[in-house]
Amino acid sequence: MSDTQMPPAHPFDDDKLKEECGIFGVVGVTDAANFVALGLHALQHRGQEAGGIVSYHPDHGFNSARRFGYVRDNFTSQKLMETLPGELAIGHVRYSTAGSKGQTQIRDVQPFFGEFSMGGAAIAHNGNITNAEALRRELIERGSIFQSSSDSECIIHLMARSLQRNIPERMEDALRRVEGAFSVVAMTRTKLIGVRDPLGVRPLVLGKIGDGWVLSSETCGLDIIGADYVREIEPGEMVVITAEHGVESIRPFRPQKSRFCIFEHVYFSRPDSIIGDRSVYETRRQIGVELARETPIEADLVCPVPDSGTPAAIGYAHESGIPYGMGIIRNQYMGRTFIEPTEQIRNMGVRLKLNVNRALIKGKRVVLVDDSVVRGTTSRKIKEMILDAGAAEVHFRIASPPTAWPCFYGVDTPQREKLLAATMSEDEMRDHLGVDSLKFISLDGLYRAVGEASGRDAKSPQYCDACFSGEYPVKPSDMVEKGFQMKAAE
Ligand code: SF4
Repeated sequence: MSDTQMPPAHPFDDDKLKEECGIFGVVGVTDAANFVALGLHALQHRGQEAGGIVSYHPDHGFNSARRFGYVRDNFTSQKLMETLPGELAIGHVRYSTAGSKGQTQIRDVQPFFGEFSMGGAAIAHNGNITNAEALRRELIERGSIFQSSSDSECIIHLMARSLQRNIPERMEDALRRVEGAFSVVAMTRTKLIGVRDPLGVRPLVLGKIGDGWVLSSETCGLDIIGADYVREIEPGEMVVITAEHGVESIRPFRPQKSRFCIFEHVYFSRPDSIIGDRSVYETRRQIGVELARETPIEADLVCPVPDSGTPAAIGYAHESGIPYGMGIIRNQYMGRTFIEPTEQIRNMGVRLKLNVNRALIKGKRVVLVDDSVVRGTTSRKIKEMILDAGAAEVHFRIASPPTAWPCFYGVDTPQREKLLAATMSEDEMRDHLGVDSLKFISLDGLYRAVGEASGRDAKSPQYCDACFSGEYPVKPSDMVEKGFQMKAAE
């Protein structure tokens, strides 16, 4: 595949929300780019479309490689990795960022690089800038020439226009103009920089490896390289890290109450990651426990919709006392084989990815536990497969509240009218899916499961939950300008 081609979208995973990016950076270790490649591999679940790495070596300057496809298929080549020398490197994996869906070019693949009078800098961004279009218009009017369609490129141009003396200060300047959600890793010739937006919507953690330091979207990226977890970068914090002087912490933004993305707990993050000192796996299991308390049913078997429904199904089975079983088996090896399917194969749809364990299902009243319902297309097909296999009843239990609003903070969601829960009540969705019952965890139940004992604080929510509540912690100004109707204040 040439650098300018884009692989087709994965044909069978179109009914999930998709995290759009993972970011990773290392300073102070030999061949830092190799560590970044491994870190990006661990973060591949956050974006499979493309990846990129930038490194710096005093004798060879900045070098970069950006490729479509999986990290393992690109950044394992010794020949390629030898072009990325140095003890400082950052990287990015992406699904796709705002403004470029369906037409991604290699120039949209991060990290982005800018040459300034005081030296070069590269940045990689996870999140979405909600005023990017307004910023882009302003910057273009003032002479900036954009190379990509990505919202993240605004940061580089804002840095170029800043009058500050050094790159971290220019980055502070730039990010103060930016609205929305951003976790950023950046690098200069000597510094690794990490920043989280004032609400801390997207994750970023700090790790230590030998004499070096690591920044990663999730702790699973630290584990793969044998780095120790140090702490989360705090909402609104910037860290400037050098091999010689360690970590300097700066607070460039006005302090605000944090609003971390609650969906990271439900689905996006890997179950073996730690968020806020809580195991993601354990939180998901607890979501299943809450779900069983809130939505009991008489049944013979609890099955996860693999793989993301598994911990919640384990929790549901434990709390309800209903036996747990793998009623649906995922084919782990189908992805690459059918990457460009024929129409006939495409019509097989979900059966290529999931198969029913008939011997277990037959004659049983089955509780199916899934993480979310987005369009409902996959849920309908799974229900048909379970009934075809001879199940007596099918009951869906969903480990998140109804997804009724789009995300504008770095997660790919369909337009509002395509979200099943935006147009139908719970009973209507049950009838549409053709199942015996359909129940979602409540927002309060979800908050309890993530450790908020008294549930959601309605006046001042502890998390971002806009895709469930319609209450956006940062106004999505570009979308409002285009006619998006926000929920009326109650
Ligand atoms: S809208 Fe939903 S998916 Fe997006 S950041 Fe908020 S909680 Fe996460």
